[in-house]
Amino acid sequence: MLNIILLGPPGAGKGTQARKLVEERGMVQLSTGDMLRAARTSGTEMGKKVAEVMDKGQLVTDEIVIGLIEEQLKTVKANGFIFDGFPRTLPQADALGRLLARNGQKLNAVVEMRVDDEALVARITGRYTCGECGEVYHDTTKPTKVDGTCDECGSTNLKRRADDNEDSLRTRLMEYYKKTSPLIGYYYHQGDLFPIDGLAEIDKVSSQINGVIDHQN
Ligand code: AMP
Repeated sequence: MLNIILLGPPGAGKGTQARKLVEERGMVQLSTGDMLRAARTSGTEMGKKVAEVMDKGQLVTDEIVIGLIEEQLKTVKANGFIFDGFPRTLPQADALGRLLARNGQKLNAVVEMRVDDEALVARITGRYTCGECGEVYHDTTKPTKVDGTCDECGSTNLKRRADDNEDSLRTRLMEYYKKTSPLIGYYYHQGDLFPIDGLAEIDKVSSQINGVIDHQN
């Protein structure tokens, strides 16, 4: 059982790398962003409540996201979890530690994906994803092979996120520096932090992450 956190600002490549780990290692990706977007699409009360907050680029409450993760940890069986976009605040990090301990598990590694701010704007504003299988694309660095069609599943339902614009990104970055970046110190102190170069090519980033994982017991 191996549990890792992918930590980094919006656009660092957390989702892309989480998907690779799912494919290559059979781990399970727990993305609070995906869960919240699914709640919005299905029109649940919670989904309606968080929509505006998400579109502005602010963080939703700790209570909501901790509840989502708690539910997943209770119901999903896996040989390892990749936490993608969670935790994003110190109370969330504390809660995750408690939830894992309750299940007799622990956190193995926190991979900090380091990326320059300038690179994030370009990455985020060119990003789109497949609405069916979740594959992530980019206008210039990773376009679909056939215009408008997902390489992986053939769907033509390609989407851009409502919060992938420069205004929301500015707020998301501020939220990251104010509320999430203190987690770097928190996990460094625990001895769980592994910084990697998130600016490298996708496969190089992936091999750095695999290097970290292979060194865990
Ligand atoms: P992401 O897909 O991880 O970029 O998340 C998209 C949006 O969902 C964020 O900008 C927040 O509004 C919300 N969100 C996702 N995960 C969390 C979290 N752990 N804590 C608070 N808000 C979150």
